[in-house]
Amino acid sequence: MPALDEILTQKISKLQENSRFREPVPTWRKGGVEIERNGKTYLSFSCNDYLGLSNHPEVKDAAKEAIALYGAGAGASRLVTGEHPLYGKLEKALAQYKDTEAACLFGSGYLANVGVIPALVGKGDVVIADKLVHACILDGIAISGAKLLRFKHNDIDDCKRLLQQRGDYRNCLVITETIFSMDGDCAPMAHLRSLCDEYDAWLMSDDAHGLYGKNDPVIEDVRIGTLSKVLGSMGGYVTGSAALIAYLKSAARPAIFATALPPASVAAALKALEIVQREPERAGLVLARAKQFTAILGLAEAQSTIVPLIIGEEGAALAMSKKLEQKGFLVTAIRPPTVPEGTSRLRFAFSCVHTEEMVRQLGDIIKHEISLP
Ligand SMILES: *Cc1c(COP(=O)(O)O)cnc(C)c1O
Repeated sequence: MPALDEILTQKISKLQENSRFREPVPTWRKGGVEIERNGKTYLSFSCNDYLGLSNHPEVKDAAKEAIALYGAGAGASRLVTGEHPLYGKLEKALAQYKDTEAACLFGSGYLANVGVIPALVGKGDVVIADKLVHACILDGIAISGAKLLRFKHNDIDDCKRLLQQRGDYRNCLVITETIFSMDGDCAPMAHLRSLCDEYDAWLMSDDAHGLYGKNDPVIEDVRIGTLSKVLGSMGGYVTGSAALIAYLKSAARPAIFATALPPASVAAALKALEIVQREPERAGLVLARAKQFTAILGLAEAQSTIVPLIIGEEGAALAMSKKLEQKGFLVTAIRPPTVPEGTSRLRFAFSCVHTEEMVRQLGDIIKHEISLP
């Protein structure tokens, strides 16, 4: 066996021993919250298509029309010939909706974080980040070469303590998520804003799981978003001042050196954004489902579309996920390194396409047939 494969086989065995080996399973979303896997149909509580827009007929038509008119791919990076006019249109719509000056699209939310952070900070700067921020934020920080300090999750006092230790670092960027992807709780944005003002730091957030609510003003200097969750398409973006966006278009490497998003993804997101604004009740509906679920199980009231049920050990979380699967519900077990050691969990993601009855059934099964730790 070649030396590389031998080493990798050992690594795989190690992952398997620790229940950390991962393999994607072919899965087919059937138009709503039903999905097919291994020839069986399940109700999914593991999709981030919170407003059910990825299968909305108008969204699909917008994508189809863009493909018919402009082809399947962009053909080049934006700075070469990939700058389809739909890009500018979506950026303007996003900035307007978020009440900020400008926006810049990226190939994904992941690429937005990996591109924006190194464009803003580098060696000699410090980033102060919440302990639970997403992997792609950590990757962006690592690429930047800035010093990383981490504060306890959502702990303003701990963040303040780190800001006080800032020392000789030139610039300071504080990073958090508006809604945490694996916990579903919200960051204290207004408090962080005041702290950043007090200590002369910049504030950046990742709003990948935000519901595009109008009651959610952008108070950060930099906010990352994605087209891939609520908007049901593919792509990422950043919003902020005109100067920030103008600079990023020349400095954020994934915006320069990667092929532009397919026009169809942009057209789909534009249509989805229109629907979000036209039908604001969708957001209320999905939050009501999440709250219905936490009420059934006597958990703290859901703050977002995401509700975690912390189990502890990897094996136990996997077993619980399996048990729900046998009952026809697909709920993924989330394990380290995605979440901290000892906090393996089931992560329930709600959609406005879930009915009250579906949520009731799920809640009843967990309540009566699964012994919680
Ligand atoms: C999903 C997610 C991303 C990545 O966004 P994609 O568009 O899927 O690449 C970034 N940050 C957070 C917090 C996320 O949950």
